[in-house]
Parts: sequence; structure tokens; C-alpha cells
Amino acid sequence: MKKIIEIQGLTKSYGDIKAVNDLSFSVREGELFAFLGTNGAGKSTTINIICGQLKKDCGSVIIDGKSLDTDLYRIKGSLGVVFQNSLLDKALTVRDNLESRAALYGITGEEFEARLEYLCKLLDFSDLTKRTVGKLSGGQRRRIDIARALIHDPSILFLDEPTTGLDPQTRKLLWEVIDGLRREKGMTVFLTTHYMEEAAEADYVIIIEKGEIAAEGTPLELKNKYAGDFVTVYGKSEEEIAALGVRYEAIRDGFRLYVPSTAAAAEMIIKSPSLFTDYEITKGKMDDVFLAVTGKKLTGGNENENA
Ligand code: ATP
Repeated sequence: MKKIIEIQGLTKSYGDIKAVNDLSFSVREGELFAFLGTNGAGKSTTINIICGQLKKDCGSVIIDGKSLDTDLYRIKGSLGVVFQNSLLDKALTVRDNLESRAALYGITGEEFEARLEYLCKLLDFSDLTKRTVGKLSGGQRRRIDIARALIHDPSILFLDEPTTGLDPQTRKLLWEVIDGLRREKGMTVFLTTHYMEEAAEADYVIIIEKGEIAAEGTPLELKNKYAGDFVTVYGKSEEEIAALGVRYEAIRDGFRLYVPSTAAAAEMIIKSPSLFTDYEITKGKMDDVFLAVTGKKLTGGNENENA
């Protein structure tokens, strides 16, 4: 798959704060790319630069072979962005918001009507088009934010924390829509999220800290490198488990042992077969990866320091 976004040496400071510090990475066409980090890590700054909303200090941004420095207008035509904060005009109706956005891309008249009908079906908001945006619920507004981002049929979609604060039903709908667009149109999706179960579905993940890459890889690579495996043992006493000499915790029906890898788990089981009569091995999760890399836990938009 070709590289559709190529970032080299991207840097942006606000006074003394290096929000983005010599950042280099690439995104392949059609992939779901997760860009993670704690609050203030530099995610929004990076997205705002790539989307032409913010000036970089230095570095290069190439989108589908075109440089941001010389081809901003053409690049913008291929990008759709859902920002953290809605850009919809609260005083206007849903239809007026989408119509004025479409006009910026030269989409008017019948072409606009067809596009509106398509998006209404896709995001299930036919009953909302005459409503004033300011009176919509958070989940309803998010669907219109996404419609706004998709109005010109972009090939790359940026989603900056698209599901924060949404009810499970709306989250599910949004992911079904995004998965469908990727399958049917080969759309590339650049995602920031605080939900690690969403990041676990990505093709490639980058975790940034203080504007620099702290870890990167596929979810499986990251889990193998940072999270290790867990062996859950049932029906044994704590004494027997403690004698193994590995880190463990008591859970409702047994004990959860931490091992650095699947190979280490196999070795432990072969050494003490009488202990492992009823057990299961599971891989660490992306939450464990995030915690290992950043020292912080993410819980759906809120971060807690983890001692
Ligand atoms: P979050 O998850 O909270 O959205 P983020 O990873 O998107 O965080 P950024 O918003 O990119 O982080 O911020 C990176 C750093 O730059 C932070 O230290 C932030 O305080 C700082 N920063 C961002 N915008 C500005 C600004 N306009 N003026 C000064 N400092 C800024």
C-alpha cells in the first residue's frame, strides 16, 4: 500500500512549549491509523497542521504526493476533518450548515441534494435536516459533524476524538459508517481517541509524548512488546500460585499471572503441569500498552495518574 501521508521533521512551538518536536511518520492508503497520546501530547496540533489550519515552524507534510507548502488548496479537497470541537453554526439548521459547506466545494443544486440524501441515509439524520444545530443533542450533532466532513467525498478522514462523550448506540453507528466507508471506498482514516478498544482495531498505532514518538507498531506488535501476556489459573490455592514466583493478582474465581510473553507462559506451564489443569492465556490489551508506554491510564476521555 502506498504512503498517502508522509510527515518529516514536523516541529511546532508555542513560546517555550514544543508542542510537536521533529515528528516523522507515514500513513498508508486505506488504513485505520490511530494517533494516541495523553492530554497535551501534541495530537491536535499535528492534525491542525496537516489539515492546513495551523502553520508549522518547520518540517514537511506530503499528502498523496502533494506538498502542503505548495498545494494546500488541492490537498484540502481530499481531506475531511471532524475536529474535537464542532464547527457547525449553531444558529443555522442542519441543512443550511451542510449547504453552505458544500457550496465551498462547488457542490450545489441537484448535486447537493443527492449528496444530502446519501449522507442522511448513511448517518441516519433525515428527520433532523430542518432542526437548528444549537438544539441538537451531542450524539445528533456529532453525526452532522461527520456529514459536514464527508460532504465533498474526501479520500482521507481525520477524526479527532470523534466518540468522546457519546452514548454506546451512537458510537456503534459511527464506527459502522467509518468501517463501511473504508471497505467500500478505501478511505484512509486518521484517528485520535482516548478509547483504547477503538485503537485496538487500528492497522497501525503511534503513541506520542511531548510531541515525539514514544512507541509505534501494529496493535499486536505493541501488545507483544509492551503488555506481555496473562495466564489466568482457576481452582488453585494462593500458596501454590505464589510458589511460582511470578507477579499475580487475585481475581474472582482464580489468579491472574503476568508473564512477559507467550513463550514464557508456555515454559512456566510445562515446568509445573499439575498447577495448570484449568487455565487460559490472554494477550495484554491496548490499555496495558498505553499504561506501559506513558505511565498513564486512559478512561474514555479522562486520564488518571497511575502510581
Ligand atoms: P488533548 O488530548 O488534550 O486534545 P493534544 O495531544 O491534542 O491534547 P495539543 O492540543 O496538540 O495536545 O497541545 C500540545 C501542547 O501545546 C500542549 O502543551 C498545549 O498546552 C500546547 N498548546 C496547544 N495549543 C496552544 C496554543 N494555541 N497556545 C499555546 N499553547 C498551546
